[in-house]
Amino acid sequence: MTGNRPVKTALIAGNWKMNLTAEEGIALVQDLAGRLGSPSGNEVLLLPPFPILAAIGAAIGDAAIELGGQNLHWEASGPYTGEVSGPMLRAAGCRYVLVGHSERRSHFGETDRTVNRKVRAALECGLRVILAVGENEEERAAGRTRSTVRSHLLKGLEGVAAGEAARIEIAYEPIWAIGTGTTATVEQAGEVHGWLRDDLRRLFPPPADDPIRILYGGSVTPENVDTLMARPEIDGVLVGGASLQAESFARIARFQRETTIALPGKSC
Ligand code: PEP
Repeated sequence: MTGNRPVKTALIAGNWKMNLTAEEGIALVQDLAGRLGSPSGNEVLLLPPFPILAAIGAAIGDAAIELGGQNLHWEASGPYTGEVSGPMLRAAGCRYVLVGHSERRSHFGETDRTVNRKVRAALECGLRVILAVGENEEERAAGRTRSTVRSHLLKGLEGVAAGEAARIEIAYEPIWAIGTGTTATVEQAGEVHGWLRDDLRRLFPPPADDPIRILYGGSVTPENVDTLMARPEIDGVLVGGASLQAESFARIARFQRETTIALPGKSC
């Protein structure tokens, strides 16, 4: 097939990281729900810190906002002080979990092996997984972007059956763009998303790969979201800083998919 893929329901995810108390988070959700108003056709997801998941779930109530965890342990329970398991996230109302964020890899020693264990554990307990992949500045400068993201992708998804692909999302997050204010250009993001889609198709031959959405993350703002989301390879965004204010996150969640930049005649 040449040209555009069918447009999927976009996923707009807000990663609060280690920010916001329950009180602050509840106020944000109430403001956000009011601003989102009628359904926009996009799926909106919040990833709050563990201790406030239940409070945020309660504040979400009937609003069209999903809840997810920022991390999980691969075991369901046991002597793992400070950790949280998939079944605990489910019980707290989570439908999603983020796995392999670069901050987990760089600050907490997560490896492709532990990321893979987490991916499989999350799928096993019925969660949807957002697997984060992305190169750092040196890897990009050395021309190793493709091999780095491919390695994160393939190692992260090792042992995952094609039948589980429908519960996977990939977040392409170039590390040099996270929290820096430097967003990847649409060409850079589109190119990497295209590579990831090619790899996913090899791993889960179509149509199994089709439900997998590939999100872009890295300094997404109300100002750049429309341009990013105009790329047909970008199926949503993972937002850090700009998800901490209802006004900016609501604007991002209600992005305008006005124009679609056609893929440059490649098979997709
Ligand atoms: C992130 O942490 O996943 C992220 C994309 O952060 P920011 O939007 O602040 O760059």
